[in-house]
Amino acid sequence: MSGLTSQLRYIGFSQVLYNSTITVRMERSELLRMGIKIIPVCPWDENDMEVEKSSSKKHKLERTYKCSRKHRISLLSSTNGELRGWT
Ligand SMILES: [Zn+2]
Repeated sequence: MSGLTSQLRYIGFSQVLYNSTITVRMERSELLRMGIKIIPVCPWDENDMEVEKSSSKKHKLERTYKCSRKHRISLLSSTNGELRGWT
């Protein structure tokens, strides 16, 4: 079973990245409360990215992900849980 994929828009302030999109894979996971695991694909080297364990609960709407080569992105979601884009 493969997960759904979708494209996410860049919503940060960089002129270089303006209009670029990344691919995000969503896989079902019984382990997670929401039932869905989000796996962004690194825009620089196309590695799968993993969520970084966040120390703060204040920024629930922003999750940082990193790939094995230490690239980082953040995914921003709205309060209903939908992904809005990446920075
Ligand atoms: Zn990378």
